[in-house]
Amino acid sequence: MPDSEQPSRSLSSAGPGLAERRVSGIESSGSAASGKPPRSNEPERKAPQLRPVWFVLILLIPSLALTFYYSQMAVPGGGEADSFLPTTSYAFVLLLLNLDLIGFVVLTLLLSRNLIKAYFERRHRLVGSGFRTKLIAAFIGFSLIPTILLAIVASGLVNKAVDVWFSDQIDRVMKDSYEVARMQHAGHIALAVNSARAIGQELFREDMLMSEQRDLLIAAMARKRMEYGVAGIEVFSSKMETLTKALDADIPAGVLDLPVSQLVLQVINGKQEFTSVQEAQTGRLVRAGVPVAAGNNRGELAGVVVVEAYVPESLLTKMEGIGRQYEEYKQIKAMKNPIKAGAYLFVAVVTVMILFSATWFGFYVARSITVPIQRLAEATEAVAQGDLSVKIDAKATDEIGTLIESFNRMTGDLQGSKFKLEDANRSLRQTNVELDRRRAYIETVVETIAAGLLSIDRNGIITTFNPSGERILGLSADRIRDRPANEVFKEFGLDVFQAVYDRMQADARDDWSLEGQVDVQGKPVKIRLNGSRMRDEANKDLGYVLIFDDLTELIKAQKVAAWQEVARRVAHEIKNPLTPIQLSAQRLRKKFFEKSPDFDKIFDEATNVIVTEVGSLKHMVDEFSKFARLPAPQMARQSLNEVIEEVLTLYRAAHKDIAFCVELDEDLPVLNFDREQLKRVCVNLFDNAIQAMNHTGRVWVSTKYDTKRKRAIVSVADEGIGITLEDQEKLFVPYFTRKKTGTGLGLAIVRRIITDHDGQIQASNNQPKGAVFTFDLPV
Ligand code: ADP
Repeated sequence: MPDSEQPSRSLSSAGPGLAERRVSGIESSGSAASGKPPRSNEPERKAPQLRPVWFVLILLIPSLALTFYYSQMAVPGGGEADSFLPTTSYAFVLLLLNLDLIGFVVLTLLLSRNLIKAYFERRHRLVGSGFRTKLIAAFIGFSLIPTILLAIVASGLVNKAVDVWFSDQIDRVMKDSYEVARMQHAGHIALAVNSARAIGQELFREDMLMSEQRDLLIAAMARKRMEYGVAGIEVFSSKMETLTKALDADIPAGVLDLPVSQLVLQVINGKQEFTSVQEAQTGRLVRAGVPVAAGNNRGELAGVVVVEAYVPESLLTKMEGIGRQYEEYKQIKAMKNPIKAGAYLFVAVVTVMILFSATWFGFYVARSITVPIQRLAEATEAVAQGDLSVKIDAKATDEIGTLIESFNRMTGDLQGSKFKLEDANRSLRQTNVELDRRRAYIETVVETIAAGLLSIDRNGIITTFNPSGERILGLSADRIRDRPANEVFKEFGLDVFQAVYDRMQADARDDWSLEGQVDVQGKPVKIRLNGSRMRDEANKDLGYVLIFDDLTELIKAQKVAAWQEVARRVAHEIKNPLTPIQLSAQRLRKKFFEKSPDFDKIFDEATNVIVTEVGSLKHMVDEFSKFARLPAPQMARQSLNEVIEEVLTLYRAAHKDIAFCVELDEDLPVLNFDREQLKRVCVNLFDNAIQAMNHTGRVWVSTKYDTKRKRAIVSVADEGIGITLEDQEKLFVPYFTRKKTGTGLGLAIVRRIITDHDGQIQASNNQPKGAVFTFDLPV
């Protein structure tokens, strides 16, 4: 109900008033400015005071009812007849009408206020104002036409009724009725008086009052009573003695017993006619007393005749009713215009009440819809501002209730998700910090390690190239980072890198190592390269990381050490035959100077020793020079299996205690190699295997074609003493030997031949015992 609500009312209070809407509007904008959305979940407060409109209605409705009731009561019957002023009930009606008028004015003012409010709310486009205006318009529209029609018809009827009511015909009828009633009354008196006169005359003429005529008088009076149709005739003497009484037996008892002496006395004293009207319980008794003069003397009174006429109660009441009604009619007729005005006013008040009710109902219905919608709008705004804690506390049970419930649930869910998101965000931030820390740590490691590091992602793009890598290859990271690896390797002649990268791509192996040479600013640099495949926790391929070392310095140092060893050994080997040579020469010289008889024998022995020792020296020098001057390989396309078979044939014949288990891959295609050098490789490997087994046992020889990598793989395994972990690294270094008569050059030569053929050789232990040497060659 729109009324003068206090501006301090919160937005949660119900009511479609403009004041309230404005208040909530200000609250919203105020809080929007302060960055905090309005609270929508305040409990609904009831208006503490009685609103004026209720007050007016509470007064007006009984007032209207009373008006109607009293107007019904007051108009037909009058209270005090002969009163010039309006009756008290009529005055009350007027008072009520005035109250109605006041109520009417107040209601009209309130209605206009509501409509003006609605108009301004619509102009200010407040939430829900459009809907409210439409609803009010619909309600007024629907009620206005029938109400106005009804008002017109009702006022027409009222006008007509009042006119008919106070028309001349009614006036005349009322007047005539009144006259008839009045005349009826007068008729009774006249009847009594005239009858009394006539009887008086007769008594005087006949001189019937004489005492001797008494019987005649009694009979005459009884006859006269019947003749005149009166209630009774009483004849008194001049001394007030009752001479005769002729009374109607039908008249109720007690009426004719009413005292008559006063009237008789009046007549006797006044010597003239007198009438009296006496009221009895059952009716009215009209008496007329007439003096009867004495027959002899004119001035003397002979007696008094009293004639009685009886008006019964029923007739009396009717007569009085007519009289009273006529009086009231006269009064009301004087109030014709005020009555008309009152009736019009009544119709108008009812009309305005209907209109007001329609408007109020419009407001009421609109409020039940717009208030929750407004709250929803405000809450939505709050949610838009980021406050997810809003809850709408409106008591709606219909679809809007469902909407509000859904909204509340939605904000609740949103808040829950927001908390979850915040939590996730927090932990994500922590993880990120941790990851950053770890990344920085790994970067530092990568930056500081002495080895070069190059990483290639899944798409073949170089992602990392560390400063050591820059130093070893003499390339700045900017020139190669974020470029395809294949392109970079080709551009800078990094063939070893390309080889490892290709093999790792072609092979399922997770790591691969290779030694090779690259040109760094015109200088050949020997590097060792280790490639590893990177995989994530889900074993998904992430790319490759290549770690490489500059072996030049290492090799230089190794070479120095090797040549020192070579010098030591050569010295030792030379010293060994030199001693028998020296001893033989000294012995020969001594025997020669002694001119010893067995000089010839000794000469032969000593020269033999010298020749043998020199021969072994020569062999040693030959071996050494063979390693020093390994000829360039004479490459030709041929079958590797054939070469291996050739060497095996020799060995089978020479070593009867050795079982050769051979498994050669027939699919192995022909490849490019130096036949003699490969034979040497086989001879060295077979010799070592046989020596490791002390000339008895099994040797496994196999070839295999790796189609994926396009390489021939050869392995030679034995069941000899095997290789210690410590020795595995050193086997291929020149002059490393564990044998008393070994040179330590065999495996060094083998590795050199294999690397010259662009292959690789590895030594490992055979299961359950022995050693395996595996080398591969490109096909
Ligand atoms: P040498 O045979 O003259 O010693 P090598 O270079 O051929 O020189 O061999 C170096 C060393 O490698 C040998 O002394 C031996 O200790 C070890 N070796 C080579 N082949 C085998 C093998 N099949 N089993 C065990 N040890 C081996």
